[in-house]
Amino acid sequence: MAHATEHAFASTQKTFKTASGKAGRYWSLKELAKRHPNVDKLPVSIRIVLESVLRNCDGQKVTAEHVEQLANWAPNAERTEEIPFVVTRVVLQDFTGVPLLADLAAMRSVASRLGKSPKTIEPLVPVDLVVDHSVMVDYYGTPKALDLNMKLEFKRNNERYQFMKWGMQAFDTFGVVPPGFGIVHQVNLEYFARGVYKSPTDKSSAPTWYPDSLVGTDSHTTMINGIGVVGWGVGGIEAEAAMLGQPVYMLTPDVVGFELTGKLREGVTATDLVLYVTSILRGEKVVGKFVEFFGPGAASIAVPDRATIGNMAPEYGATMGFFPVDEMTLAYFRGTGRTADEVERFEAYYKAQGLFGMPAPGELHYTKVVKLDLGTVSPSLAGPKRPQDRIDLGHLATKFTELYSKPNEANGFNRPADTLKQRFALTRGGVDTDREAPAPRAGAPRELVEMVANRSTKAAAHTAATAPPAPTGQVSIGNGDVLIAAITSCTNTSNPSVMLAAGLLAKKAVEAGLKVKPHIKTSLAPGSRMVTEYLEKAGLLPYLEKLGFYLAGYGCTTCIGNTGDLTPEINEAITANNLIGAAVLSGNRNFEARIHPNIKANFLASPPLVVAFAIAGNVMVDLMTQPVGKGRKGQDVYLGDIWPTPQEIDDNLRFAMNAKAFRQNYEQIKDEPGKLWSSIKGTRGQVYDWPKSTYIAEPPFFEGFKMEPHAADAGFTGARIMALFGDSITTDHISPAGSIKESSPAGIWLKANGVAKADFNSYGSRRGNHDVMMRGTFANVRIKNLMIPAGADGSREEGGLTLYQPGGEKMFIYDAAMKYIAEGVPTVVFGGEEYGTGSSRDWAAKGTQLLGIKAVVARSFERIHRANLVGMGVLPLQFRGADSWESLGLAGDETIDVVIGGELRPQMDVKIVVHRADGSHQEVTVRLRIDTPIEVDYYRHGGILPFVLRQLLAG
Ligand code: SF4
Repeated sequence: MAHATEHAFASTQKTFKTASGKAGRYWSLKELAKRHPNVDKLPVSIRIVLESVLRNCDGQKVTAEHVEQLANWAPNAERTEEIPFVVTRVVLQDFTGVPLLADLAAMRSVASRLGKSPKTIEPLVPVDLVVDHSVMVDYYGTPKALDLNMKLEFKRNNERYQFMKWGMQAFDTFGVVPPGFGIVHQVNLEYFARGVYKSPTDKSSAPTWYPDSLVGTDSHTTMINGIGVVGWGVGGIEAEAAMLGQPVYMLTPDVVGFELTGKLREGVTATDLVLYVTSILRGEKVVGKFVEFFGPGAASIAVPDRATIGNMAPEYGATMGFFPVDEMTLAYFRGTGRTADEVERFEAYYKAQGLFGMPAPGELHYTKVVKLDLGTVSPSLAGPKRPQDRIDLGHLATKFTELYSKPNEANGFNRPADTLKQRFALTRGGVDTDREAPAPRAGAPRELVEMVANRSTKAAAHTAATAPPAPTGQVSIGNGDVLIAAITSCTNTSNPSVMLAAGLLAKKAVEAGLKVKPHIKTSLAPGSRMVTEYLEKAGLLPYLEKLGFYLAGYGCTTCIGNTGDLTPEINEAITANNLIGAAVLSGNRNFEARIHPNIKANFLASPPLVVAFAIAGNVMVDLMTQPVGKGRKGQDVYLGDIWPTPQEIDDNLRFAMNAKAFRQNYEQIKDEPGKLWSSIKGTRGQVYDWPKSTYIAEPPFFEGFKMEPHAADAGFTGARIMALFGDSITTDHISPAGSIKESSPAGIWLKANGVAKADFNSYGSRRGNHDVMMRGTFANVRIKNLMIPAGADGSREEGGLTLYQPGGEKMFIYDAAMKYIAEGVPTVVFGGEEYGTGSSRDWAAKGTQLLGIKAVVARSFERIHRANLVGMGVLPLQFRGADSWESLGLAGDETIDVVIGGELRPQMDVKIVVHRADGSHQEVTVRLRIDTPIEVDYYRHGGILPFVLRQLLAG
């Protein structure tokens, strides 16, 4: 065991020199390899984590054994060891950042009440928050949309932004990128990431440098893996621990190598590729694993495309989708405005460590190797309910038709097949069957390459861009109609090749005389201002605008469900006729009710396909064989006619890599953050004074806090079942981010507190107020609690309801929870596979805890949500083998005992006893999904936050 004051691997510290002769020190992996030769063959991502473990080896939190264990990582070993990973920095988005700031502020309040210095609570690493999740698409299709949406955003979120300003002055290393700059992952890619970092305490002439690494409070933090940075999404509670100096603990991961060969064919985009990768890796079951890309195909992929693939790691279930640093990474750094000094040091450091360059096949050891020839990828969409359900573009029409009448369990919409083609007039009601779907072109090509080759229309003369035409005549809507078309999301809007492709397609479409129907909600919401900068310079923005894609905001918008509402007529037509309307968006998530509560079919697609489907107007138009629309002279225009060539995209890429423009843009964060942001006045002081607010309130997690934790819990008895859920319950089902219904417990509470319906804002924006969030837990309008018996037609009631026991009275889950808590009755939730899948959302665990739920028993858990449950002191219990709540025959009126025999240990067996109303009982053994020793400590302390607070205050 190393002594706390003496570094056990001091001899591995070496010096490196940059090309211009500047010296720096580093903890050398090559030196470590002299003792542990295995190191040279480790996956690059593991070696970067190993460097952190080596550098931070202090004999206490990180020991010599930790270094040795990871240095001897074996591709197929049993994974029982935990790695303490100290990260370089933390990034936050505002939905998760505000509750995190509220927790930090609450910790300071506790410190102050206990007579300690509030400054004991201070982030130890740089923390950057980007305000990106709040802007909504209230206005669209007008040149004023951005301005109007931002004004509304500031009006709605004034109290939250004041609170952030308090945080900026109270904490030394806490920075905020104000609204209107971009999405956190793109800003991270373009600006925060600086390659290598210098120890802030090392003031010597040759300071110690180390690689960038981070955790972020957003699942898609993995986008940063595209530039060789190790990082992933964690819940806010884990991020808090990381910023307060705790290592991020994880089980040593398997690393799946993904060998890419070949080249993408013409017409195939990075979006198509990532949908392919997602569906392949879903099948490979990579949950909890690192995925590392290598091989000649990986080396040939542009950095923004790598970032797009890294971005969707949560959709394929991996912890990361990592690309090593190479020449392309350096070129990206230069093109996005990093200084010559930074790039030079970045290169020198990675070369000194032997971490530079894309590994060739066979060079490194991986747990398993998956292969893909890029030439086999074809244009796709994914949906209508899950991102991993990839559909070839040419099969979309058939797929939608099939799913229309398939049962819900088969991912269908359960509608009578003979109603598929019905149409409903918006203004006068009733059925309108006039409109026929366009007929397929005889012998039309179905293959992409032929589709691209089949360009019948030569570019027409330049057409000046104007606003979209006013609606003429009767508007009718039907099943499959595209009602929302959104160029949105960090996944794609950071990628110049697909954004320029959308602009070029729009240009050709406008020139051919194609239009988008004005009732379709069209929006353009890039992840950074740089996108509109290069679209403008390339002369393409006016064409997107002409098709209705006016700039609506720089932020998440539709991707996070901030779609804004549809018109009352459209909402009414959908709900009155049970229409399956469609959204086509360039996002990465399409779970039920995420995009809009009334849009049930949500398809993820590349930005150019979003534009194409907006023009086509219905997802049953087969764009491989049918025209996208009619041109100016009534001629059929096909997708192949307007799809941009690779050369056209390449010619415009020069506008996207302008180092000076990047630098100028990001300098404005400090110099010109915008009038709206400058006018926000935050309170001052080290301790927050918690003014009355329906947005920010002191969270109750530290109520009755004492320096000694409560005695360890040995299980509980007589628990009631709060819910029985099926598979794939997402964090959005558990804690929705979107709109708040007036009749829901949260809506009722807001109204009782003087908030008008128009000012409800979203759940996501109210995560700083536990009163709203508790009431919003399990409040997704599409969640189905299977305790409630099915209707006569087999359909299930949707919404956050339960049967309160005994007696079985139907009520909101929140109301039942308050009754159970008042009676001192513990509760449990049962789920199926992939419980807690989707976005990292700590409120999904915080809300569960505040509703008095003591355990969640499921067939499997999503990685982050499982950790968050433990972090909030809720037991995750996993069924073994084929066991499930269905196999136990649970109906919901049973009582449950959870029996933990002996001392709490990671992954131990736990007994569940089911007591039935007839007096019988049944036992089943489940696995405790507290996975690591440190998690046992967290649980014993009642969660991560009390654990960390006790450590800080004791220190
Ligand atoms: S995935 Fe969507 S909601 Fe999440 S950060 Fe990206 S744009 Fe925002």
